Amino acid sequence: MSRLRGTGVSPGIAVGRALVMERDAAPVFRLAVPEDGVEREVVRLEEAIEASREQLRAVKERLSREVGAPHAYIFDAHLLMLDDPMLRERAAEVVRREGVNAEWALRAVSESLHDLFSQFEDAYLRERTTDLDDVIGRIQLNLRGSAEAPSLSRLPGPVVLVAGDLTPSEAGELDWDRVLAIVTDVGSSTYHTAIIARSLGIPAVAGLKEATRQIPPGCVVAVDGTRGEVVVEPSGAALEAFSVAREVYRREEERLRGTRGLAATTLDGVEVSLEANVEFPEEAATAQLHGASGIGLFRSEYLLGRSLRFPSEAQQLDVYRRLLEQMHPHPVTVRTWDVGLEALGPAGPSSPNPALGERALRLLRRSPDPFRVQLRALLRAGAHGPVRIMFPFVSGPSDLRVALELLEQAKAELRAEGCPFREDVPVGVNLEVPSAALVADLLAPEVDFFSVGTNDLIQYLLAVDRTDPRVSALYEPLHPAVLRTLERIATAARVHDRPLSVCGEMAGQPTEAVLLVGLGFRALSMAPSAIPRVKEALRAVRASDARALARRCLSLSTCAEIEAAVREVLMPDARAARVDLGH
Ligand code: PEP
Ligand code: MG
Repeated sequence: MSRLRGTGVSPGIAVGRALVMERDAAPVFRLAVPEDGVEREVVRLEEAIEASREQLRAVKERLSREVGAPHAYIFDAHLLMLDDPMLRERAAEVVRREGVNAEWALRAVSESLHDLFSQFEDAYLRERTTDLDDVIGRIQLNLRGSAEAPSLSRLPGPVVLVAGDLTPSEAGELDWDRVLAIVTDVGSSTYHTAIIARSLGIPAVAGLKEATRQIPPGCVVAVDGTRGEVVVEPSGAALEAFSVAREVYRREEERLRGTRGLAATTLDGVEVSLEANVEFPEEAATAQLHGASGIGLFRSEYLLGRSLRFPSEAQQLDVYRRLLEQMHPHPVTVRTWDVGLEALGPAGPSSPNPALGERALRLLRRSPDPFRVQLRALLRAGAHGPVRIMFPFVSGPSDLRVALELLEQAKAELRAEGCPFREDVPVGVNLEVPSAALVADLLAPEVDFFSVGTNDLIQYLLAVDRTDPRVSALYEPLHPAVLRTLERIATAARVHDRPLSVCGEMAGQPTEAVLLVGLGFRALSMAPSAIPRVKEALRAVRASDARALARRCLSLSTCAEIEAAVREVLMPDARAARVDLGH
């Protein structure tokens, strides 16, 4: 038995036999074509392109039917590439000019397009080389007369598909009914293949580096797409653990369907807004599925992708607008870039301690442009729906004002350009630095809302690195200092009548959520999958009891005492319901 760790890009659990896919990297030969055969070679090329078009159309149609139109658009781009003169005409031109075979001409054109793409400023466009390879690979297969890729559309049985990479069009062709899970050496959550897997509910783990080498074909593998774990040839005990986890997951999914339409209202009628934290725009669908009443935190920096390139204003506007459309009529809170120095380029300075160094708003003085572009996109998105802007890593009024000034500048620019935008987009602070929490009363008059980032707040308050497993036992969300700080923030928000939420992982733990409501929080934002359980916990308590519990906890001295008090008051099995959200 061996365990491989990657990134869970599509949740769920599956156990099955591995089908390891090797991409056919057939060599391409340069063949001289006699003068009287050149036109026939061009026809071969045209026929291969036409065959590719038919196949791509079929894949697109199937995706539209079975996954939904939004995912099929990927193949519009592929179809457009087929007709692009840079590909089609130039390949024919190479055949004619150099008197070579279509395969070689196609390869030459592919190389020059790769060079061209690598020069694009725009990261999104640069990354389209994967689509280009996908399209050209298909034409090459068609030229060889073996376009059917039978292993994908006719799988030998229910399998865990193990691949170095699985391109979007390959995923589109898959015999999904027989795919239990997908495991890949490369890939990330933003890769279209992962998006498709999520939409289909197929567990997937990406970024395993050497899975294709480490997993022997035909062996049993257990895949946990939630935790990003793959166990090769699991022992009986491991199989048992996977089967328990799968059952828990199945029941959870069942419950999700049941609670979606219910409000998170306490027994004495206090309504709490349960919102979703999302990293990728397509998660809005998951948020809706779990009954989120808005997006409480969109971690926008995930838009930078692996290449760490800031998307353009138009690209961002498109993303924010689609999020708003999908969540309509609920609000979407976008946190501005929460990035470190590395996002400004590999050649720049590095930070000896990134958690305490130049990051997020602190980069704004050094490099205001990415922030200005983002604020412009957000203001413009405001014309399309209730977007809210949230600034992370604020330490007090002075750095908040720098950000607010930039926001005013962005508004002035848009006004001067006559570009439609919303003047009064609500602006809030992600309270996560202790100094900001201490001066919450000074920050409140300058903003429209507060959202507490307990993940960082706890790390900084307790001086415990949230990413270091060796000190994880010291990371205590119910430490008295944390509760006192939260109470202080709640008081400032109440006095200044500012909406208040928590968007750290604490909000997604049922018992802690009850305590937060007791402290005065009326909005909680969490991983979409955590919403049903928190809702259930809130619907089972009285807000007045939660308040009494919070008061009692505030008088206690240790996390252990507070936990015991919480256990005593809430359902005895409430702690058992604590979810490992993988953060
Ligand atoms: C937080 O710090 O609590 C938070 C919500 O943001 P992140 O986890 O992205 O730092
Ligand atoms: Mg944070």
